[in-house]
Formats: sequence, structure tokens, C-alpha cells
Amino acid sequence: MTDISYHNHSRFSDGADSVDAMVQAAKAAGLAEFGLSDHWVFAPFRNPEAKTWSMAQEQLDKYVQEVCQARQKYCDDSFQLRLGIEVDFFPENAAQVVAALGDQPFDYIIGAVHYVDRFAVDHSAETWAPFTQAQVDDIWRQYWQRIRGLARSGLYDIVAHLDLPKKFAFYPSVELRDEEDAALAAIREADMIIEINTAGLDKPCDEPYPSLSLLQRARALDIPVIVSADAHRCANVKRNFPAAYELMARAGYDPDIRWHFKQRRREAGRNA
Ligand SMILES: [Zn+2]
Ligand SMILES: [Zn+2]
Repeated sequence: MTDISYHNHSRFSDGADSVDAMVQAAKAAGLAEFGLSDHWVFAPFRNPEAKTWSMAQEQLDKYVQEVCQARQKYCDDSFQLRLGIEVDFFPENAAQVVAALGDQPFDYIIGAVHYVDRFAVDHSAETWAPFTQAQVDDIWRQYWQRIRGLARSGLYDIVAHLDLPKKFAFYPSVELRDEEDAALAAIREADMIIEINTAGLDKPCDEPYPSLSLLQRARALDIPVIVSADAHRCANVKRNFPAAYELMARAGYDPDIRWHFKQRRREAGRNA
């Protein structure tokens, strides 16, 4: 089985384990390709909490260096290591935040929306609980507008966890199909790829990101898909992968297609 996972975190952001430990775990789990994608979060508002889960600007060189060193150490004919990063999209400063990455040799850049205005959608159920249903609906609506903006910016290669606000099982009460479809159309237009992020299965929403319905619509638009564990610790580097392949097949994708990223170019291959 050619298993690949590009969306994963180390201690450089909010992961529990070192780059080396994560890479060793990926190799031991039998992944054919693994990538680190630590958080790069620079909000256009005062955001002291980001310190606890984003890489600091001055850590970037060290992060790149450690991943490149691990590549020398662990890569062989049956294992490849890729250098990625997960960048938060804010409409106010998206281009500057990506420009601050300089000319580091990233294999891919994952674009993510974790914030709607100043609200972190994936922080905790307690932060969602006080909202009225109308406010929940509004967060979802704005979230989809942001995903559309992320795609239209043309700055990223992969869209992270497409329907992340469902994490704590707070769902919209209104039909947001137009907003969702506009976001998907923008992703198609930008020739981006989406991920089936298997972390969602371990959260209150109890299913991968995105839902089957979104995935079916992505399939209809021919948006390519990859599977990612979004691991924040060694034990999770290959979590729930069979469920992701099954979901791919149910949505009409060929579950044996594998997309490979290198130096921000992607190429399709097949499961071997
Ligand atoms: Zn994320
Ligand atoms: Zn992540």
C-alpha cells in the first residue's frame, strides 16, 4: 500500500514530538511519503494565543534545516520526506504572510482557515457553546467566504480540512450550498487540491473533513484529493486511513490515485 500523509505537525508548532521522532514513526508505520507542515499563523489582529500553536518567525530557518537534515538521514528507495507548511489565510495580510516564508524550498504550502474574524473555529466546544444558532450560521457562512478567498488568492497548493467548523458538531441550521459551491468552484479555478483529513474521525464530528456530500461535489468538479492524518504526535501518523480510502471510493474517486508533491509541483501516481 502506498500511503502518503503531508499534513502533520512537530514541536515546531503544536505537535507533541520532534521532527526526528515523527519521521521515524512515519517510516515505522510503513508510509511511503511523509511531510511536515507546521503552523505559520500571523493574524492581522493582536493574537497572543497563536504563540502556543504557531511557529515563531525566527524559527523558520531551523525548521527547514531540521526537516532537510531528517531527509538526509531517513530517505531511501521506499521512503520520501517532504517539506511543507500550514499557513493561515487572513484576507487582510495573506500575501505578506506567504512572502515572509522567503525562498525556502517548500514542496507544498497548505492553506488553512482556522479563524473567522477573531474566533478560532477549532479551539474548543466551550467557545462555541454561548453562540445562538444565528451566530453559528453566520460563522459558517463567513467561513466558506474565507475558503473562497483562500483559493482565489492563488497562494497555496492544498486546502486544509475543508469543513473544519464542524469539529465540535456545531452545524448550520440553514442551507449554505451556494457558499459551499462557490468555495469549491474557486478551488477548482485555482487548480488546488483538497485533503481528506482523517483527524475529524477522532473529534466530536466523528467523520473526516470534508463530509461525503462536499467530497462528491469536489469529485464532480474534478478537484484532486489526497489523504492526510494531521498528526500532532507519533501515534497518529497513519490514523484512520482505511476509512479515508473508503470515503474516496464512495464519493466516486479512484481510491488508488496518489498525488505526489515536490518543489510545489504535483504529479499523479498509483497505489502500489
Ligand atoms: Zn489546521
Ligand atoms: Zn494541521
